[in-house]
Amino acid sequence: MKQSRTAVAIADGRALGGSLRVIVTHEPDLAAAKSAVDEVVRAVDLAANRFDDDSELSRLNATPGRDVVISPLLTKLIAAALRGARLTGGAVDPTVGSAVKLAGYDADFAAVPPDGIAIEMVVSRIPGWHAIAFDEAARTVRLPRDVDLDLGATAKALTSDLAAATAISRIGRGGVLVSLGGDISVAGDPPAEGWLIQTSEDSGAPIEEGEETISIRSGGIATSSTTVRRWTRGGVALHHIIDPATGLPSDGPWRTATVVAATCVDANIASTAAIVMGQAAIRWLEEGRLPTRLVDRAGSVRRLAGWPKPS
Ligand code: AMP
Ligand code: MG
Repeated sequence: MKQSRTAVAIADGRALGGSLRVIVTHEPDLAAAKSAVDEVVRAVDLAANRFDDDSELSRLNATPGRDVVISPLLTKLIAAALRGARLTGGAVDPTVGSAVKLAGYDADFAAVPPDGIAIEMVVSRIPGWHAIAFDEAARTVRLPRDVDLDLGATAKALTSDLAAATAISRIGRGGVLVSLGGDISVAGDPPAEGWLIQTSEDSGAPIEEGEETISIRSGGIATSSTTVRRWTRGGVALHHIIDPATGLPSDGPWRTATVVAATCVDANIASTAAIVMGQAAIRWLEEGRLPTRLVDRAGSVRRLAGWPKPS
């Protein structure tokens, strides 16, 4: 997922292990918007970077079995992850941490070797989000001993939402778009034609003529895919989206799902869930009225729940 160049000012960078793009409709506001976004991104990195042993999340994961008081920001991030679990009947579940590491994704993706020797993987249901004792008002969490929280499916998207909201309140006019690795949130007044977003399985790919484009005016859009964050071990292809029922990389029919929702975090909950749920996602997405574009393993595209036909 990437956005076309329709607005007047764009700042690009790197954040949270991926690309960062900030767009504003009033060029003079770009620097202020970008610095608001950078502040939010830095705060999330300190709170929730699972590859940094000093992050608040890593310290929480290292302190099972008792109530730990957490920061307001980590509280929001965990609340979003548990909202994902609730909305998807556990297809999206932050207790995938150990399974993600066992599959070989145990460092910032750039440091995960693309090939390696075979690893032993045993089918085993993940611990499950019900095992987490979370009190949002008191800001406390108690993790069972076997749980490693992974906020990967919601943290980046929530960061886009928080960053876009912070930027628009800082600049006070016009519109802003924040994209973190293709998890896009928009706030304020959109450009006349809306925010034009080009669909892609790889948010790092360049904008191309003739690719399918969708316009959004509010909320967010997110893509989950098994085609980009993948690697092989002993010749077996593995990827980063775990089926909670098996603890192994999911093997459903969709290789990529892109969803539009009222927030980027809800879009990302649904896009990750679509990959995990497979065929059953179609009904779930239609019932939730979440416009979705699915790409199956052979590359065929299926559009549902109001996703526009390409013109
Ligand atoms: P996304 O690319 O937004 O779909 O998020 C995928 C990331 O979320 C992975 O890199 C893991 O860190 C984490 N993850 C993988 N499988 C799941 C799952 N079933 N539920 C929640 N998080 C997951
Ligand atoms: Mg995502």
